[in-house]
Amino acid sequence: MRLRDLPSISAVLTCPAASPLLDRHGRAAATDAVRALLAEARAALLAGGDAVWGIGGPDADGVAALALARLEATSRSALRPLFNLTGTVLHTNLGRALLAEEAKAAALAAMGDPVALEFDLDSGTRGERDDHVRALLCELTGAEDATVVNNNAAAVLLALNTLARGRDAIVSRGELIEIGGAFRMPDIMAQAGARLVEVGTTNRTHAKDYKGTLTPETGVILKVHTSNYRIQGFTKEVLAPELAAIAHGAGVPLLNDLGSGTLVDLSPYGLKREPTVREAVEEGADLVTFSGDKLLGGPQAGFIVGRRDLVAAVNRNPMKRALRVDKVRLAAIEATLKLYRDPDRLARRLPTLALLSRPKAEIADQARRLAPALAQALGAGYAVTVCDCDSQIGSGALPLDTLPSAGLAIAAGGAALNRLAASFRALSRPIIGRIEDGRLVLDLRCLRDEDAFTATLAELHQP
Ligand SMILES: *Cc1c(COP(=O)(O)O)cnc(C)c1O
Repeated sequence: MRLRDLPSISAVLTCPAASPLLDRHGRAAATDAVRALLAEARAALLAGGDAVWGIGGPDADGVAALALARLEATSRSALRPLFNLTGTVLHTNLGRALLAEEAKAAALAAMGDPVALEFDLDSGTRGERDDHVRALLCELTGAEDATVVNNNAAAVLLALNTLARGRDAIVSRGELIEIGGAFRMPDIMAQAGARLVEVGTTNRTHAKDYKGTLTPETGVILKVHTSNYRIQGFTKEVLAPELAAIAHGAGVPLLNDLGSGTLVDLSPYGLKREPTVREAVEEGADLVTFSGDKLLGGPQAGFIVGRRDLVAAVNRNPMKRALRVDKVRLAAIEATLKLYRDPDRLARRLPTLALLSRPKAEIADQARRLAPALAQALGAGYAVTVCDCDSQIGSGALPLDTLPSAGLAIAAGGAALNRLAASFRALSRPIIGRIEDGRLVLDLRCLRDEDAFTATLAELHQP
């Protein structure tokens, strides 16, 4: 190919193949992409090599097609849907809970239209953002009052700042957790302006430890759910009812950070019993905080429920404004909470619960069904087997309990295995598994759309 055989930018942009390029990306981006391709080709030819597309080179249509492919690749969002086959159902790095259809519809409706977010439709006067979920939260938890903020970290920060700014916050050494990322209880305390007072030891904290630390400077006693670990063996913790009595005896509130929190007993769904928010309220906590996108199965949110006067104080805190949620999430939260009014259909409607309660036999059937498609997509050189595996709930909920599951295992050598995992991640809908014992394991517990999965696997054939 010679320099003068290169098409001009305008020839490329007016050829038939340019119309999808212009439609999808607009004139400015299309022109830039074509100009860049032609410049690369020119530079390569001047350097005595072949143009980027090799000997012979394409005509204007070929350049347009290349520009389209390049723009498609670079404009693909990393936030596109993927297949979470890691075996961790509530995977924090993959966005935790999946919303129910009802919640998606409510969020979508709120997105593009005005809604009565802080407007009372009955009186025509100003309303409150929390009104949309307050009654539901009180109904589902038995609390007097409730509010909602950006996430549970925000809920803990706001509650601590409201109850203990400039004062002592007493917490057991065994509960000074790090959740991951930057959520470490001592740091949150410092940011909330509370003085951390640690009591007891890592494995044992007694009632007398709390009592001996109470002073007129005490703002709050904090109890924290040790979400992502267990202290086993020679241990002692003061349970919430006794801690509430100690706190109230000193005229101090008890704040219970439940972490995941659940609104219903999960044992009928085959999961281990976790204390519910209602129980935490009944046990005497003055405020209880919990997440929206862990076991509850809604969007990212943090709830604060409890005593009316304390929730009112939280709402008066200027920080509340900085941590509030928008109309889209609020709509999704309301729709999610409403599903809990009908426990019979909850597991069918709430994807998180549906996935957590999927029986192993059903997942194994799915694995046997899909094994041939995966083997075919990978071609010879990879051995695909149906395997047993263990799923995790994730997000710190029931950390020691795994759920028996099944999946597909692909055996390969070390480097080949990493290459394979990388090519799965590069698919139009990435497939994320986990590497375990020299195999790439795809835990199928969270695979909902089999057709989309097999269609995506077919891309592996393409160069
Ligand atoms: C997960 C968790 C948090 C943080 O909640 P986010 O919703 O992730 O902000 C706080 N405390 C405990 C005990 C948790 O398990």
